[in-house]
Amino acid sequence: MRIKVPDIAAPDFWLSNFGKVQDYLLHRLTVGRLHPVGCSALGYPLHVVEYPREGCEKLMILAGTHGHEPGTVAAAMNLIHLAESGEDLAGQPHDDLRSLLERVYIFVMPCLNPDGRIVCPDTFYAQGADTVTVYASGLQKDGSLIPYDSDSPEPLYYFDPQEAVFMGGQFNGAGYAMNRRRSCDASDAVEAQAVFEFVRDRGLAGILDLHACANNFAIQAGSHEPAYWPVLREWQKRAEELFAAKGRSLKPLYGDPPQPTRFHFNSALFHKHARLLFMAYEGRQGYLGRKEWWPVPTEWEIIDDYLSAVRVFLELGAEGRYSRVNREVFGQ
Ligand SMILES: [Zn+2]
Repeated sequence: MRIKVPDIAAPDFWLSNFGKVQDYLLHRLTVGRLHPVGCSALGYPLHVVEYPREGCEKLMILAGTHGHEPGTVAAAMNLIHLAESGEDLAGQPHDDLRSLLERVYIFVMPCLNPDGRIVCPDTFYAQGADTVTVYASGLQKDGSLIPYDSDSPEPLYYFDPQEAVFMGGQFNGAGYAMNRRRSCDASDAVEAQAVFEFVRDRGLAGILDLHACANNFAIQAGSHEPAYWPVLREWQKRAEELFAAKGRSLKPLYGDPPQPTRFHFNSALFHKHARLLFMAYEGRQGYLGRKEWWPVPTEWEIIDDYLSAVRVFLELGAEGRYSRVNREVFGQ
């Protein structure tokens, strides 16, 4: 039996549907350079868009690691549209962010996990969180959830797709968790490995990885040396001011100071082997059903939260903060 993915309507600026994202990337780019970087486990194309600016810090915005986090893909596509046209997909100018784009050399990967994206709706806006759990985990053949527990000290790294009705957005189509593994030297998820190979020798100073836990917060990565911690704390300080000015909530920096975990995130692989700062930011999804999610933001506010996080990330990058620490930790 197959599941029909529910068609939940989203505004045009919420560009998260994989087919529509591909259509934009293949037909509407006039400024950015499109790089095919391989294929997903199920054979869908992976793309990075490059906006070169010689002499500037090289940074990457990564989105769509988790298929059930469609706002991250939409945010990346709004950033691409801003770089292409000077406005986001809703026609808003974001003057501060746009001027920062002229001070950095950026790569944008809008959808790291197409296999996970296509099994999930285009949005979870105004849905209950139980709905998302189904699409995040996927279903076993008996109709129960695939037992992925992101809060567990030993989460599920792999589930045999032959035993699944569908693999949820936490996984790729081959059954590998997109962002949890025992090794920090390679990724079993071909998508993460492909973008890592693309990044490894390009001299990037930092990567911002967009996620959607339902609240706005950034994470202090346990894989990063203490020399990096003040940089994230500076991001937090500036982001708090920016979010406050917009009347939006931003939670404290999660996991500060970091504690060791028994498993590794993509941050450890990229940090250790590409010698860069890798930071994760979690955004909202517009869920209903808990006080902490109320009042529900508008869809544009969700995108703007991500673009605000990107703005502070680019600002610190343009100031050379990441490369200074990279040199301090890794040498030349
Ligand atoms: Zn995520």
